[in-house]
Amino acid sequence: MIEQKLKNLIRDIPDFPKEGIVFKDITPLLLDPVVCREIVDAFIEQLDEEVDVVCAVESRGFFFGPMLAARLDVPFIPIRKKGKLPGTTISYSYDLEYGSATIEMHNGVLKPGQKVLLHDDLIATGGTVMASIELIKRQRAEVVAAAFLVSLEFLDGVKQIRNQVPHIISLAPYA
Ligand code: AMP
Repeated sequence: MIEQKLKNLIRDIPDFPKEGIVFKDITPLLLDPVVCREIVDAFIEQLDEEVDVVCAVESRGFFFGPMLAARLDVPFIPIRKKGKLPGTTISYSYDLEYGSATIEMHNGVLKPGQKVLLHDDLIATGGTVMASIELIKRQRAEVVAAAFLVSLEFLDGVKQIRNQVPHIISLAPYA
């Protein structure tokens, strides 16, 4: 079962990057190409919606975001940290489980009415996803599904985005 496989491979790193945070390190998953394929398969299997584009959040959303887009045969649009995108951007600032951040997206790449699959490696407080949804909505596109490798259910991020996103996929939820 994919959930247990992921949980066996994901490493808990205490006090990283700050004291009190238990960091879920997903990099061991990337060492195994079979597991990587199984992860993409599991996302695709659970995705019931037609999507026009995959958007994912820097940095760890870029591991599987482009793989998902390639498999779905749709474009991939990166959401990046402030100052990384060279074109005209729109931005949004938000609080993280640790610190705060501003994310940006190129203006005009997402077309009005497009259906978006939003991806990140992990959802904690939901701040990153809420900010991403805001950027996507400002371009009059719609998040029809959100897909995560990991959800920290005890931090209420999933609950927070539930009324914004019709379908939430989490391969490894931690209660
Ligand atoms: P949040 O905005 O609180 O939902 O945080 C999600 C973002 O922060 C994701 O991009 C994660 O990569 C990262 N993140 C937050 N908490 C953790 C954690 N405990 N372990 C690994 N990554 C985390």
